[in-house]
Amino acid sequence: MAKKYNPRVTNGNARRKVRARLKAEGRPCWICEAFGRPAEIDYSLSHNNPGAFEVDELIPVSRGGSPFEYSNLAAAHRRCNQWRSNRSVEEVFAIARKRKLYTEKNISTSRTWLK
Ligand SMILES: [Zn+2]
Repeated sequence: MAKKYNPRVTNGNARRKVRARLKAEGRPCWICEAFGRPAEIDYSLSHNNPGAFEVDELIPVSRGGSPFEYSNLAAAHRRCNQWRSNRSVEEVFAIARKRKLYTEKNISTSRTWLK
């Protein structure tokens, strides 16, 4: 079987640079931000810690996004990145919006409406 082309590895140097840039900026996790959770990333955590920093492609590589262009990249927690899997940014925002419907305030509103 032919070896699969992996742009992350092929452009390793560009990838390392953009990773260093996101880290230097101390960027928060974009997925936690979407969900209104504390989004700070502890950049000192080891890479296999669920809270560790990972570079996340907004348009996944599998959908043609660039793994090393700054504009396509954001910082994310390892656990958030794993949860996101291959969901699009729009899908993540849609889920966040949907969950916000279930805040206590809205539940009491719907109860009022049911009376
Ligand atoms: Zn996160």
